[in-house]
Amino acid sequence: MSALETAIYGSSVFAATAVLPPARAPLALDLDVDVCVIGGGLAGLTAAREVARRGWSVAVLEASRVAWNASGRNTGFVLPGFGQSPEIIVERVGLDHAKALWALSKAGLAYIRETIREHEIAADASDGWLYVSKTDRRDDMQAEAELLQALGSDVDVLSTAQVRSKLKTPYYFQAIDFPEAFNIHPLNYALALARLAEEAGVRIFEETPVLSIDPAGVRKRVVTSSARVRAAHIVLAGNVHLGRVMPDISQTLLPIRTYVVATRPLGEKLGEAIEYRGSVSDTDWADNHYRIVDDRLVWSGRMTTWDADPWRFAKGLRRDIRRVYPQLGDIEIEYAWTGTLGNAVHRMPQIGEVINGVWLASGFGGHGLNTTAMAGNMIARAIVEGDTAWRLFLPFEMIWAGGMLGRGVAQASYWTYRTKERFAARASRQAERERQRDAEKTARNVPRSAKPPVGDLRQRVRDKRAKQVASRKRVPKLTKD
Ligand SMILES: Cc1cc2nc3c(=O)[nH]c(=O)nc-3n(C[C@H](O)[C@H](O)[C@H](O)COP(=O)(O)OP(=O)(O)OC[C@H]3O[C@@H](n4cnc5c(N)ncnc54)[C@H](O)[C@@H]3O)c2cc1C
Repeated sequence: MSALETAIYGSSVFAATAVLPPARAPLALDLDVDVCVIGGGLAGLTAAREVARRGWSVAVLEASRVAWNASGRNTGFVLPGFGQSPEIIVERVGLDHAKALWALSKAGLAYIRETIREHEIAADASDGWLYVSKTDRRDDMQAEAELLQALGSDVDVLSTAQVRSKLKTPYYFQAIDFPEAFNIHPLNYALALARLAEEAGVRIFEETPVLSIDPAGVRKRVVTSSARVRAAHIVLAGNVHLGRVMPDISQTLLPIRTYVVATRPLGEKLGEAIEYRGSVSDTDWADNHYRIVDDRLVWSGRMTTWDADPWRFAKGLRRDIRRVYPQLGDIEIEYAWTGTLGNAVHRMPQIGEVINGVWLASGFGGHGLNTTAMAGNMIARAIVEGDTAWRLFLPFEMIWAGGMLGRGVAQASYWTYRTKERFAARASRQAERERQRDAEKTARNVPRSAKPPVGDLRQRVRDKRAKQVASRKRVPKLTKD
């Protein structure tokens, strides 16, 4: 990869192992199409491809290179569901509505799997996702799994022993196992999607930032610095970068940066520490998401609501890895990168027709792989066939994200959550160690005092305290950002 390409795609292990196509030419002449898509990330590319496959003419205008941001820099976990927790979705819209949304998210997941399989894209990696708890809370995990099953997900709860047989760390207790999830090479997938869109007839213009749009009338106008596009429909798929094109919409997204590192190849010790080949997220919702890629550990976390150099976080992420897997020893980080995802206040995607003929596909958060595929398909069907499935997202309206204040609040709640989670995790481990000590004592038949069982009483108090700390935090959001 050239220095310029590294600057565009980031110093990621995925960029280093992708075959980048030559840059596409910017838009130079005025163009008339049925649909103009703004943004060449996964949302825009999927929508464009699916509209073109239905026989309509489509142009994609991309400010930089396709998939240079979140779509090419993510960690590649393809999961069912949304950024918001299933409990809250059900609370908000009821079980039947939530089931319909869940089915759409699973259709997004199936679209990626099928596209990779059908076109033999070099992006297929491994199956499964484990959502592991750092506190001992079997009942909560069981309740969460039952809700997921009611929504239509094929999940199981793994016991602490089962988890620790796959992930060799005392750090974890129970887990929810998602065998239907899978993991991909995100950049190879996104680049292949752009190629498939072109094969379906889409014209992609890179280095073509859209400056403004005029959405009035039947033929809408899209203005770039070099030329204009006239289109019957516009799809806004610019994520957090849409900016001045539609400020009212841009201000409904909170930009979240996450940081990712990939270690140098770790050899046998990696397989000994992590026997599981799928991806793993633990209950620090913005931290500790990881998977093995070839012989490296790819680990993400440490969100910020401002821009920062990813190497600044590399040390912290290395510490996170060593805290969970000290047996990996003195690991070296070879790649460090970051990308920006967009979260709406309700942590659900923003999908729908915002003005007659102007469609929005945005706010995909940390579940952007399935949901961009879902949204792209849904919007294409809505435009060409008049399908109304997108209306299922109407309860998740656009809300101002609070500007700088909103960012400050989001950052503070992340720090608070993280601190609480760490205390709760420590209390759970401590309670477990004490239980083990007592069990060993009993097994060795250490004579107990004839007095009232003070040890037992103390133990009960400790267990109660650990439970209280753990229950202060409800089952966390099944989120990956
Ligand atoms: C580090 C990281 C890890 C992640 N891990 C996962 C994961 O494991 N699983 C998962 O499901 N999700 C994950 N996500 C989230 C997921 O990557 C995103 O939700 C998804 O890629 C968003 O896609 P998008 O097309 O909406 O946005 P983007 O990929 O940001 O694409 C938007 C595009 O629009 C272009 N654009 C914007 N404005 C204009 C304009 N005015 N003119 C022309 N072009 C414009 C931009 O240049 C950009 O290319 C992760 C995200 C990050 C950052």
